[in-house]
Amino acid sequence: MPDLIEKYEIQMAEPGCSVGTGRWGVLVTLPNDISAVFPYLNAVLPKASYDHENQTITWTEPEQAYALRPTEMRISRVTDPAQGRAAVAELVARINRIWNERGTITPSTKQRKPPPVMEIFKLLPRTNCRQCGYATCMAFAAALSQGAAKLEQCPPLMPEAQEKLRILLASN
Ligand code: SF4
Repeated sequence: MPDLIEKYEIQMAEPGCSVGTGRWGVLVTLPNDISAVFPYLNAVLPKASYDHENQTITWTEPEQAYALRPTEMRISRVTDPAQGRAAVAELVARINRIWNERGTITPSTKQRKPPPVMEIFKLLPRTNCRQCGYATCMAFAAALSQGAAKLEQCPPLMPEAQEKLRILLASN
């Protein structure tokens, strides 16, 4: 069975071109449309944000963030070009594996939207103390929205705000 992704081109964006992260970004250009795999990715990635109509799927993992469109894939928060190339190879292998195993996966076109970053931000202490490992409370709010951070990473967070955030994050 042929792989879904057999060829691709990689372009690296230097730090400074990746907004606010200080890390590299990677753009992968594909010669063929891979959107047929998106419902299968959506089924196996419970935290992904999927827009079936516009054919986009995004998700965040502890190290990298991913954004896929039919003929391109973007990976952000990459440390350097070598890590970028390794992340692309890993992503391509993962997509091909899921595509080849699609007979065992029930595809999902369920749309998910991440909780609004501003609503999360309003419940944070907003002191930019950096104890969470992020440069600002806004950056931490964005990571929470994408499922890439945990509330426990913010020591100054008061129990009442923590409970409200738990409900907000669980509602999406
Ligand atoms: S630990 Fe909490 S208060 Fe400090 S920067 Fe992170 S989110 Fe903001």
